[in-house]
Amino acid sequence: MSVEAECIFCKIVEGVVPADIVFDGGDTLFFKDIHPKAPVHIIGIPKKHLTSLDAMIGDDHLTIGKLMHDATHVARDAGIFEAGYRVVTNIGAHAGQEVSHLHFHIVGGEPLGPIC
Ligand code: 5GP
Ligand code: ZN
Repeated sequence: MSVEAECIFCKIVEGVVPADIVFDGGDTLFFKDIHPKAPVHIIGIPKKHLTSLDAMIGDDHLTIGKLMHDATHVARDAGIFEAGYRVVTNIGAHAGQEVSHLHFHIVGGEPLGPIC
């Protein structure tokens, strides 16, 4: 079976696995995290399967730039822009990446504390 066929986020893109989708940007998709770590916790992905940010090739950076742009709109729609929020991606084991499909966490709705 292909990597994409096994990937939970690819299955969400295909509609095989349900998700609470908040925005479809054409080549990007945003949906609520199933286990939110903050009052607002949205996952943003490229629909194309990329293992992590480290796997970008060719024109992928254009899609990821678009994903960042879309994320700001999603954050505004979620009502967390004024108070502030965080956008973060985990890459590999030491960062605790669990799902091997490039994704950004958009989190906010309460003070988040320092990360760096
Ligand atoms: P990571 O640790 O890989 O950066 O984050 C993966 C995130 O995906 C976690 O916050 C987890 O709760 C979320 N997640 C995992 N499986 C699903 C799923 O099937 N649906 C949704 N909506 N989120 C998921
Ligand atoms: Zn995938």
